[in-house]
Amino acid sequence: ADYTRDDVLKMAEEEDVEFIRLQFTDMFGTLKNIAITAKELPKALNQECVVDCAFIPGVDGAEETDMYLYPDPNTFTILPWRPQQGKVARLICDIYRPDRTPYQLSSRYLLHRTAERAREQGYSFYVNPECEFFLFHTDDNGLPTTVSYEEAGYLDLGPLDFGENARRDMVLTLEDMGYEISSSHHETSPAQHEIDFNGDIAEKMADQIMTFKLAVRTVAKRHGLHATFMPKPRADGNGSGMHVNMSLFRYGKNIFADPGDPMGLSREAYYFIGGLLAHSREMAAVTNPLVNSYKRLVPGYEAPTEISWTKNNQTSLIRVPICRGEETKIELRSPDAAANPYLVFAACLAAGLDGIARKIQPEAVGGEENFPANLRDAVDELEKSEFMKQILGEEFFREYICAKRREWETYTRQVTEWELKEYLYRI
Ligand code: GLN
Ligand code: MG
Ligand code: MG
Ligand code: MG
Repeated sequence: ADYTRDDVLKMAEEEDVEFIRLQFTDMFGTLKNIAITAKELPKALNQECVVDCAFIPGVDGAEETDMYLYPDPNTFTILPWRPQQGKVARLICDIYRPDRTPYQLSSRYLLHRTAERAREQGYSFYVNPECEFFLFHTDDNGLPTTVSYEEAGYLDLGPLDFGENARRDMVLTLEDMGYEISSSHHETSPAQHEIDFNGDIAEKMADQIMTFKLAVRTVAKRHGLHATFMPKPRADGNGSGMHVNMSLFRYGKNIFADPGDPMGLSREAYYFIGGLLAHSREMAAVTNPLVNSYKRLVPGYEAPTEISWTKNNQTSLIRVPICRGEETKIELRSPDAAANPYLVFAACLAAGLDGIARKIQPEAVGGEENFPANLRDAVDELEKSEFMKQILGEEFFREYICAKRREWETYTRQVTEWELKEYLYRI
């Protein structure tokens, strides 16, 4: 449904909405918001609400840090976990500069720009993510731990699965918010879960992932658990990924399908795969943005470790799920849920379309090349990439690299538990 400004005002009135959260996602994929009261809503919808963005790296040195929030009326949603009298709704916003031009450090804008360019060529990009997460216990102070007394594994049921009730509650909450949940299950490691929902166009899905993570964390907390999307919270278990299933539509048809091909895939599908493989290294700092992300991408834990594609291999970067026809998808397995989904989808779309434009054969890519082994290598690859600079825009590109380098530097200066255990006594 396409809501107008008046629809939103009417819904807020009818639903007895008291507060509205004006939400946006920062460069690094963290959801932020300011709350306004219902009487401020007309002003917000007139694009007159201002937020000081000085907290975003790169903005602090700037002269102007006040930005306008432009709420997207289509994102009006009641937050079901807030009080049912004097309800709380949210609107996802775009960020605009004082001169009313789009703000270059807004990742939502950046995805919109990339998707719009694809639409000009007749393409609609559909994505369908699989977000995995852990449900850990909290300690006596309510702080998160990496502890769980659960021993359940892949597709296990209760009573083995301690997260069953929390997951049920998450699914119901998400459905309340308009999600079409396709399935949910216990993942491979103890306390690890996955909830899948139906795909949609990339811009809508990126919004949905941000809300998904908020909902999962909030419901977990209500169950006395801590939900984390950290890519590799425990060294001795699987990490959590955010596999991204993608399909490309043109004139209402999925152009990845070709029943005449031995694998049922079209030329475009192969080229799209070729593009993803070819650009995967320079995309890594976006698809796998944390120091911790690279600890997931190691052998033995169902995570991708090589730049390759296969029909059904957990260790390859790209897999092609079994469904065909209008359901034909390409699955990129490298991203994790710490990534900013707006950036991930923009990069995937641009990489795939580049593959189609340049007719990149998947067989021609990969070979000896390795996926970056750590965040520093990933940032080095990013910095060399004209392709990523184009997608992110110069200012975003520069600030992102700078912040990620700082993150790496801080990390390398830590003295870790491992070092103490290895060296303190022996040396
Ligand atoms: N957790 C695995 C990963 O890191 C995926 C496991 C699966 O869904 N088969 O990507
Ligand atoms: Mg899955
Ligand atoms: Mg999974
Ligand atoms: Mg998968």
